[in-house]
Parts: sequence; structure tokens; C-alpha cells
Amino acid sequence: MTPSRRGLLIGLSATGLAGSALAAGPLAIAGRQVQGGYVIGRTAPGAAIRLDGQPVGHASAQGFYIIGFDRDAAAGAVLEVSGHGAQTLAITPVVYDVQHVNGVPQDTVTPTDPALLERIKREAALKAAAFASVAEGDWFKDGFRFPLDHFVVSGRFGNQRVLNGTPSRPHYGIDLAAPQGTPIHAPAPGKVVLAEPHLHYEGGLTMIDHGQGLISCCLHQSAQMVKTGDFVTTGQRIGSVGMTGRATGPHLCWRLKWRGRNLDPSLLVGGKAPA
Ligand SMILES: [Zn+2]
Repeated sequence: MTPSRRGLLIGLSATGLAGSALAAGPLAIAGRQVQGGYVIGRTAPGAAIRLDGQPVGHASAQGFYIIGFDRDAAAGAVLEVSGHGAQTLAITPVVYDVQHVNGVPQDTVTPTDPALLERIKREAALKAAAFASVAEGDWFKDGFRFPLDHFVVSGRFGNQRVLNGTPSRPHYGIDLAAPQGTPIHAPAPGKVVLAEPHLHYEGGLTMIDHGQGLISCCLHQSAQMVKTGDFVTTGQRIGSVGMTGRATGPHLCWRLKWRGRNLDPSLLVGGKAPA
């Protein structure tokens, strides 16, 4: 045994920790501590993670984990990583605009047709099953890119929406306007957990699990080039911009969800895990 190896073991027995030396000391985290934001951390492989008292999985084999903060997250989030005590992260609030959108198909605002309501229910179940995915990987750790090379932001994350005059749910995505047919690229590696061409609200929808249940949704596509079960790499073409589903013009709506929380995808762009 080398002296440094022996030192590590002595350190562990002195503190009674079950993990590696990485588990001692302050948390190694990076990210954006705002509503709709996230934190990527590095700790001992397999360490248990809890957020606000709830178990939210384990660090990967390389020790990486991600947690996210909802659009309406409270001012403090309590992060617990096994081997560390609980730590309260300050979450900066965001002021959201009210956005009026007119001209969307009325049956995507106030659907009444029984057959359509049945279809919406069926499609909700498909999406819920895909959102339940929690892939083993940690492909979120090397950062995200925007899925389009050129675009104009036509709708920000979190806006309170008024559709055809009817107050609606907040906008849980970022809208990137670009011409019909513009190539869409995977924003980060991951497993395709849903690829459906004709959903009532989303039109052509592809969902990608970037690991630990961090799931991208790409909506309104006119064409899709991947299928459920495929593994995609950053920048790989996955489809084409369209205006299928609830849309008034060609754009990509990019959403990001982690364990039921809606995140602002743009905050992930350029972000990286702590070294
Ligand atoms: Zn959108």
C-alpha cells in the first residue's frame, strides 16, 4: 500500500464515511441557482441524493448527479448528499412575463369533442410513461447546446400564457423560431424515450433522457430522424423544424423536465459539471 492510499483510509475511518475521499469537505457543485435552474454535482460514485427531504436517486458511477429547480421553486432548496450534511441552496426568483398568443387552433385551447378528449387522454399517458424514464447515464455532465444553429427566441421559459384570450398554463419551454425544415440537433447525448409524429398538442415530439431523468422535449417537428430506443450524441440530427400541433408558425419548442420539475433549457446551454 502506498502512503497516500493509507492516508485516505485513515481519513475515512476517522470520519466514519462510507464513500471515497470525494465525499468529505464542501460540496463540489456547479450550475444556476435560480427558478428553472439546476445544479450538477460531483461526489462519491453511487452516493444517495436527496432534495427537500425526498430521495432523488444516486450519483453515477463517475460520481455525477443533477438536480433541478421548478419554475416556481421556493427560495431555498435543501440538498443532501450522503457523506455530507444537508445544505440549503439559495434559489433566486425570476419575474415572468404575461404572453398573449392568438391564432392557435381553438381545439388546442378548449377541446370539447369527446373523441378528441379521448385522444388527448391517450397521448397524456404516452408522455407520462416517457417522463417516468430515469436512465442510468450522466450524459448531462458535458454541457448542452441549442438544438438549432440559427434561430430567434419567440417565447421565453416561464411566461404566463393567454391563448386566444383564455388564461392557460405557463410556457414550460423556450421557443426557437426558424424556417420550416431547419435541422434540429440533439442538445446533449441521451436515450430517445419517445418519438411520436402526430400528437394533438405537440405535433411531432421527440423526448430524450440525458440521464437521471433529465428529459428534453422537442415539439412541433415536421420530420423526425430517430426512434424510441435510439441513443443520440450531441449535435446529431434528430429532426426538422415544423409547426405541427399547437403552433402559429414554424418553431422548435424545447422543454426540459427533471422528476416532474420544469426547467429553463437555455440555462443548461454551456453549463458544465464541476471538475
Ligand atoms: Zn413553446
